[in-house]
Amino acid sequence: MRLWSFNGGLPSLAEHKNESVNLPIEIAPVPKCLVYPLGQHIGNAAKPLVQVGDNVLRGQKIASAQGMVSAPIHAGSSGTVISIADHLIPHPSGFSAPSITIETDGVDNEIDYTPCTDFRQLSASQLVDIVREAGIVGLGGAAFPTAIKLDTQGKPVTIDTVILNGAECEPYISCDDRLLKERANRVIEGVEILLHMLSAKRAILAVEDNIPETFTSIQNAITNNQNPAINAVQIPTIYPTGGEKQLIQTLTGKEVPSGKIPAEIGIVSINVGTVYAIQQAVIEGKPLTSRIITVTGEGVNKPHNLEARIGTPISALINVCRGYTKQADRLIMGGPMMGFALPSDNIPIVKATNCILVASKHEVVTEKQAMPCIRCGLCASACPASLLPQQLYWFSRSDQLDKAVKLNLFDCIECGCCDVVCPSHIPLVQHFRYAKSALKVQNHEKHQSNVARERFEAREERIAREKAERAERSRKKKAALKSKPAKEEIDAAVNRSKTKKNSITNED
Ligand code: SF4
Ligand code: SF4
Repeated sequence: MRLWSFNGGLPSLAEHKNESVNLPIEIAPVPKCLVYPLGQHIGNAAKPLVQVGDNVLRGQKIASAQGMVSAPIHAGSSGTVISIADHLIPHPSGFSAPSITIETDGVDNEIDYTPCTDFRQLSASQLVDIVREAGIVGLGGAAFPTAIKLDTQGKPVTIDTVILNGAECEPYISCDDRLLKERANRVIEGVEILLHMLSAKRAILAVEDNIPETFTSIQNAITNNQNPAINAVQIPTIYPTGGEKQLIQTLTGKEVPSGKIPAEIGIVSINVGTVYAIQQAVIEGKPLTSRIITVTGEGVNKPHNLEARIGTPISALINVCRGYTKQADRLIMGGPMMGFALPSDNIPIVKATNCILVASKHEVVTEKQAMPCIRCGLCASACPASLLPQQLYWFSRSDQLDKAVKLNLFDCIECGCCDVVCPSHIPLVQHFRYAKSALKVQNHEKHQSNVARERFEAREERIAREKAERAERSRKKKAALKSKPAKEEIDAAVNRSKTKKNSITNED
């Protein structure tokens, strides 16, 4: 199959996969408490369906989606809801946010699942509903509700190609690799479901060319499955080849235009862990309550991959990895390029958590003193999104955010390639993250003020309308009164008529 290339990237990034990838996936024990932040996906936070004191079962929906872009949350084990309150969440801000905490009972009772014997009997919209109700979001780290991506009904798009993203390009992370090594058959069944759901012509499962054993395992699963529409391909190991737009370009030569989504060029791209979750939801009837996660770095005694219940505190996973080593220096959620530091291990893993990196001092790049930009242009050459990081930096730093937007700031995937190559050690990505957050706040405030203005205008309009209606009623009443003879006049007329009648009678 012909492959294309994308601009920039880093071909020689140290991989550090061997530390965690050689051991099989271990099922992590159910912890004493599971914590579920309500906003663990892109979009609106979920709304609790339980109260403190409620008993729940594994698989039970404990929070429902709110609005179009949202996802429900399901209990990862049986137990009792002991709190619905703010808890530390895995977020670069280090903030707390509303979360449901379940004290598990050690029994791990489950709801009755409804398995499916033949998914081909289900329509696309029925399958989308299953994915939506299972609370599946992008498990590659994006956490975008998957049902929205798959729901093409009534939209002016036709999906030709489904891309299965197994290109785990970020150093240290190996959970997708282990998943494909051990459960490729189920992933390929998930691919078939997607093909049926989207009426797509072909599916391409892409992995980097540095994992030949895994590629063999995928090819065997495809051979067993015998669906000619599914193909696997090895792509060059270049960071960040697993970025959605970069992978699409590598496999199809097509560029997703700025501000557009892949569906608009006939492509849906899904992480392989998400495909596995779809297979589990459709075939087994199981909602998303666990995921595979890499716990690695020189800071843990036994780096490897675990299948853990979503909501498990990081401290419990560190225990499964036989605790911290003396080198443990920094806790990072995600990889060293795109991850973020955590202030504590009393934080739960969420649906999007693919890696906990317990880094030693030399495993993460320590911040160096930033020097002035020397306009060398290395950042632009390395940028896989074909952006101009130097200019973006300038506009972000000087709060000229509208100009940064014009230079496609929101196409920045925060891959960190520009940071790595910058000889002046400028923390470019930090500035881009700041600029994006500031713009989101500005947009939110603008939206709020628009809503407030619309409400004010609607109120003023209502008051004016009611005033006009009152005036009209009063005018009509006056007019009616004017046209009516006064009571005295009527009485006098009646009296005159009576008098006349009497005088006629007397004359008779
Ligand atoms: S972080 Fe953004 S600007 Fe920098 S290289 Fe990556 S995509 Fe380009
Ligand atoms: S790599 Fe650094 S020094 Fe070079 S142009 Fe970009 S921001 Fe400036």
